[in-house]
Amino acid sequence: MLPRNANFILSPRLKAAFKKCALTADSFYLYDERDIIEKTESLTRNFPNVEFLYSVKCNPNRNVARRVFAQGFGADAASLNEVLASSALGLAPNAIYYSAPGKTTSDLETAASKSIPVADSLAEIKRLQAIAKNRGTVLEIGVRVNPDFSFDGSPGLPSQFGIDADQLYEFLSENVDETARIVGVHIHLKSQELNADAVAEYYAKTLRFAEEFQSALKRRLSFVNLGSGIGIPYAATDVPLDLARLARLAQKPFAAFRKSNPTAKILVEVGRGAVGKCGYYASKVIDRKVSRGKTFVVLRDALNGFARPALERLVCRYSPDASPPPSEPLFTGRGAFEILTLKEPDAPRETATLVGGLCTATDVVAEDATLPRLEPGDLAILTNAGSYAATLSPFRFSSRERPTEFYLTSDGEILAD
Ligand SMILES: *Cc1c(COP(=O)(O)O)cnc(C)c1O
Repeated sequence: MLPRNANFILSPRLKAAFKKCALTADSFYLYDERDIIEKTESLTRNFPNVEFLYSVKCNPNRNVARRVFAQGFGADAASLNEVLASSALGLAPNAIYYSAPGKTTSDLETAASKSIPVADSLAEIKRLQAIAKNRGTVLEIGVRVNPDFSFDGSPGLPSQFGIDADQLYEFLSENVDETARIVGVHIHLKSQELNADAVAEYYAKTLRFAEEFQSALKRRLSFVNLGSGIGIPYAATDVPLDLARLARLAQKPFAAFRKSNPTAKILVEVGRGAVGKCGYYASKVIDRKVSRGKTFVVLRDALNGFARPALERLVCRYSPDASPPPSEPLFTGRGAFEILTLKEPDAPRETATLVGGLCTATDVVAEDATLPRLEPGDLAILTNAGSYAATLSPFRFSSRERPTEFYLTSDGEILAD
């Protein structure tokens, strides 16, 4: 049995907000604007020469995305809908980068005037050329590259993402069509890295690749997108990524790249690093029961409102590993979510299993956790629900109601969306 809830304390401000939200909703997310501001400011302060893109897919909630964009972030859009949503929130086309495999021609046609399309295959470059020709214009595009290195230093791997570097070089040597002009490269190999040295090494390799690519292209790039990598602590034992160290280590490769290209934008994509810690998932206790000695606390919504804790349990049950490898963004690691309550610290405790109301024994968000004793009407609150939570959960399962998404502004107002 793991001790839980050991070191996470909710501020009076957050406690009051949870109580207020619980007056109108039985299950809800709560996103804290103050945390978003703190995390995004820490990124921009440490990397004054980088332009950050918000990976909208991690949490497309409008209040959340609007705030991140207001902090100076552009958008990393993973679908046409994310392009349109970012555009509706006021981002200019040159601040929205549309990168995903499997874009249809119709997606590309609509997105071409609202974003910078990033081609994920050679066939997509050709479709962008055809769109440009039809319109009698030149489209500036990026390409996502599958490089000949991987994040951990071994050689390149087969990938469903991007264009293998050697295929792209071959294409460049033969292509004479300049209607879809390649002005940038995008490489993304890994999420949720906590080791600053590993991220810095990856930045260096990616920038070296960009320089070579620029020579082959015989034209200056206007952007290099270094992708993601900036991780957040989930488990109590995770050591947070040292951003100041990463910034220091990245100085040299950034400066080397700047020598061959003083004007290109250096982009970094961040999803969870901006908003992962700002969010909580809360659900009311509806019932309690004891079955053959085991205590079950039944929540209004468990798995259907927040799937990742249940997925964690599944992976750990079926993996022979003590620390099963991650499979982002579905599974990060063991002990990634804490359970909090609004009870006083000296409230009586018990060992309980937190379940939901779905017809599946998989609907469990915590098993045999030591918690303050929860009664019907009390809230169980899960942490680390700012990213890949609402967006990854099977809301339609059993035709349940979708939990409300609340947003607590810095001055204490609660917005519902
Ligand atoms: C999902 C994704 C990200 C965001 O990853 P985080 O770990 O949430 O920061 C960034 N870039 C690409 C290409 C992605 O697919």
